Amino acid sequence: MKAKKNLPEECRAAMERGSTGIDCPICGEGEIIPTRGRYGLLYACSRRPPCTFWMNTRPTGNLCDYPRDGVPCGKLMMEGTKSIPDRCCDKSCPNHNPHKLARTV
Ligand SMILES: [Zn+2]
Ligand SMILES: [Zn+2]
Repeated sequence: MKAKKNLPEECRAAMERGSTGIDCPICGEGEIIPTRGRYGLLYACSRRPPCTFWMNTRPTGNLCDYPRDGVPCGKLMMEGTKSIPDRCCDKSCPNHNPHKLARTV
């Protein structure tokens, strides 16, 4: 029996949780699964490649409803941290930094 390469604890735990059950927002056919990237844990499309979708935080399955130019953003929300609530995965969306938004309202 071959010994598995040591995975970082966080990475192994996430992989044990398995697929997120969330459809890929790009190809619509793949599913977002935890995978090990060059810099650690990633959540990527199960059809990658050729699909290029990935994000570095577990998605919540909800979509961002922050209004942008009058239409809801619609990008995937990702799990927040202790200090930051769940937020939009799109770095260009104001809801990517909800903790900053809250302060300016
Ligand atoms: Zn995909
Ligand atoms: Zn957004």
